[in-house]
Amino acid sequence: MAVQLPIYLDNNATTRVDPRVLEVMLPYFSEKFGNAASRNHQFGWAAEEAVDKARQQVASLIGADSKEIIWTSGSTESNNLAIKGAAEMYSSKGKHIITAIHEHKAVLDPFKRLQKQGFDVTWLEPPIDGVITAEQIAEAIREDTILVSIMWANNEIGTINQIPQIGQLCKEHGVIFHTDATQAVGKIPVNVEQAGVDLLSLSAHKIYGPKGVGALYVRRRKPRVRLVPILDGGGHERGMRSGTLNVTGVVGLGAACEVSQQDMEADATRLRALRDKLEEGITSQLDGVAVNGHPTERLPHTSNISFAWVEGESLMMAIKEIAVSSGSACTSASLEPSYVLKSLGVGDDLAHSSLRFGLGRDTTEEEIDYTIEKVVSGVKKLREMSPLYELVQEGVDLSTIEWAAH
Ligand SMILES: *Cc1c(COP(=O)(O)O)cnc(C)c1O
Repeated sequence: MAVQLPIYLDNNATTRVDPRVLEVMLPYFSEKFGNAASRNHQFGWAAEEAVDKARQQVASLIGADSKEIIWTSGSTESNNLAIKGAAEMYSSKGKHIITAIHEHKAVLDPFKRLQKQGFDVTWLEPPIDGVITAEQIAEAIREDTILVSIMWANNEIGTINQIPQIGQLCKEHGVIFHTDATQAVGKIPVNVEQAGVDLLSLSAHKIYGPKGVGALYVRRRKPRVRLVPILDGGGHERGMRSGTLNVTGVVGLGAACEVSQQDMEADATRLRALRDKLEEGITSQLDGVAVNGHPTERLPHTSNISFAWVEGESLMMAIKEIAVSSGSACTSASLEPSYVLKSLGVGDDLAHSSLRFGLGRDTTEEEIDYTIEKVVSGVKKLREMSPLYELVQEGVDLSTIEWAAH
């Protein structure tokens, strides 16, 4: 059977709403349109009931209590609320906060803002495998540390940080621990109790739910975490996030969590095999390729591969019927290599020409076979045209060449 084009392999950027999720959402656009905060009639009660159910579905997926789930507009907001809200709430205890340089921008930018406001930030640098260890945190923690924010799994390279060990360490030091688990939730087991997490961000559109809705887990006991809200208003969500709830979205997030909980193991097993096939197919047929990140401490569906002696943008063009993400920054105008890959010490030449493959629930083996073939032939073709590659073939060491200034 011929493979259908284009092929979507950018599931770390966003996912398609699962048909099972959409079906649950539909009535909440129309007949069940009530405001969940309307306490005095059936329209409101029906909406509130749906929101309560979704709260349980989300809580169940991450091992939390439903009272600990705060609805937001997505992980960007969850990260902002967690980081700024905790920093402000606990600033009288200290002003030192810790994160890592290869976090998502939705963590880095709130930290930069806090730094401008007078907080003292330790920016941890990952080792070449990308995994932040508890040891690194232990070395950075001080008397005046109030917050650590380390993502569960990285969106670009898929590496999984030492979350339970970091959680344990933060507990011992009485430091609040936030994790951006946007890429981990629903893909690998995530349990806030086992991992000693105090604040956790997640987003529906990364787990086959709708865009524009997410949640923040806020621990209620041992310790009871308090946050200064970003939005002031009606005092919804225990005062932490005012505003009429996006009931349809919330229902979708709940359903997405339930489906993910059911399918997680089977999805992970299937996608890991396809991902491994993709990597094997590419690395066995091409020289000058490197799989970035940790070989095993990695999300099952993510692969980030660098191709030496080709230009990332040209490679994307050569395989344009396959939707992947390039190593370049999101702003397509800039040709800056990915800051995540640079943070690992991947050289500019390799960071410039890396592709992120994000497999998903809809990915088929035929699509992977097609992708292997296209990538291999695309890279070979580009290299044939490349004067650099010719030099390499002649045995010239490119690092010894003196380039003209630009
Ligand atoms: C996608 C993503 C975000 C942003 O989530 P939104 O819901 O789109 O705001 C934050 N962190 C990570 C790790 C992500 O992958």
